[in-house]
Amino acid sequence: MSHPCLSCGACCAAYRVSLHWSEAEPSLGGVVPVALTEVLDAHQRCMRGTWSKQPRCVALEGDIGGRTHCTIYDARPSACRELRMSWEDGAPNPQCDRARALYSMAPLTKEDAEAGLAAG
Ligand code: SF4
Ligand code: SF4
Repeated sequence: MSHPCLSCGACCAAYRVSLHWSEAEPSLGGVVPVALTEVLDAHQRCMRGTWSKQPRCVALEGDIGGRTHCTIYDARPSACRELRMSWEDGAPNPQCDRARALYSMAPLTKEDAEAGLAAG
């Protein structure tokens, strides 16, 4: 079994993904490609495509629930790095569960997560 996120992607198409503007400012060490973001307010930007009624991040490739991947994985915002799949830290994560439910996918079980992490 591969990592469950690689056959999901739901959280990249469920929420507005906000970031402090400095995360997309290279002179301050920001690595998020600014062209893939838009201004949210004086302090924040968000990933393009996620500030809409039917959010979907422009950096997401693939079909939700099929094969998906983040095209800027190493340069993704901190909000994405911080969103853990359910049971990754030993407990369910409602954000993961809610996103999956939007696409009619069952919440991950502890066993799903453990098997996915073991497979790498
Ligand atoms: S964190 Fe959860 S919702 Fe996001 S891709 Fe992984 S399994 Fe899917
Ligand atoms: S930057 Fe990558 S991980 Fe973050 S929402 Fe977009 S596709 Fe998902």
